Amino acid sequence: MDFEYWWLLGLPLFFVLGWIAARIDIGQLLTETSTLPASYFRGLNFLISEQPDKAIEAFMEALKADSDTLELHFALGSLFRRTGEMDRAIRLHQGLLERENLPEAQRLMALAELAQDYFKAGLFDRAEELFRRLVETRYANSALRALLEIYVREKEWLQAVDTAQRLETLTGTRLRKEIAQFHCELAQQNLLLGHVAEARTHLAEARAANRNCVRASIMLGDIEAAAGNPQAALAAWRAIELQSPDGLELVAARMMAAWRSLGKAEEGLTWLQDVVRKYHLEKAGEVLFQATLDIQGPEAAYRMAHEEAERSPTLAALDRLLQAKVSGMPDGDLRLVMDALRAHLEKTAFHRCTTCGYTARQFHWHCPSCGEWETFPARFERT
Ligand SMILES: [Zn+2]
Repeated sequence: MDFEYWWLLGLPLFFVLGWIAARIDIGQLLTETSTLPASYFRGLNFLISEQPDKAIEAFMEALKADSDTLELHFALGSLFRRTGEMDRAIRLHQGLLERENLPEAQRLMALAELAQDYFKAGLFDRAEELFRRLVETRYANSALRALLEIYVREKEWLQAVDTAQRLETLTGTRLRKEIAQFHCELAQQNLLLGHVAEARTHLAEARAANRNCVRASIMLGDIEAAAGNPQAALAAWRAIELQSPDGLELVAARMMAAWRSLGKAEEGLTWLQDVVRKYHLEKAGEVLFQATLDIQGPEAAYRMAHEEAERSPTLAALDRLLQAKVSGMPDGDLRLVMDALRAHLEKTAFHRCTTCGYTARQFHWHCPSCGEWETFPARFERT
């Protein structure tokens, strides 16, 4: 095949064309960047190296040179907020909103930023007002999330239900567990006011939102027990076994009391014994033991404790064994050992939030630390 040498002459031409194209791009880039002050890039550098205070200084300097670049204002504003300088963040965003020629998109952005400033500064009334204005805009998602947090903090549960439902529709995120909990809170508020019928309605709504809502079953049982219907109370509490068996830890004592009030203590003991074994429930195990001691006497209680201690030799099992032993006996050394053991067991039991690890002696439906719902297991841990 003959090689066509003549087209080699075209090669230099391609290089020249490429060089010109590159120069044009670089030239354009230089024109664009030369409109931004050098301090702007210094600020960016500090941001990247996680030095927000120095970044603030650099951006302030850049703003002196060019106060029209809106991006600079926004960068500085969010930096103020990040570093906790809420007054300055608020003043900056308010200043932007006062500009007459601010384009609509930037006006909305300034509004959204100011709302976040108020929120972080704890000025929830003002934050709420602004977030409500943003709900119909492209900031709807963050606005609804912030509103939900505000309503939960302020215990505005009806608003919380409404906002959670809107968030579900907008984002497709399921918030059934939370909505059920908000209805339980509403039921609680109504119970405190003596509005039992309204409380029942909210509990029904809680169960409609989340049929596995243990708290709703517990509260419904409490209402029935308080109304003198132990049979109905037991029915409500027994439903917990199907929802989340661990939840029985929270109601075992109440259930036993209901059985006793019905004169069906033996039936209660049998049922409790069954669930304690099936689900390895510690608190319910304690209730079962005390009831056995009380109803069937120390010998039956001792047999039960002995069997349990053989099966799982824990300190709690040992404690029950001692209790059965010393029951009815005069005070002695054994009782002293038992008291020490009890104190130790009480001191070392705690619940731990599965989301943030916060620990508490008391059970919580709503973590006081991270604000998540139903993250405390009903059964406790031991140190
Ligand atoms: Zn937590």
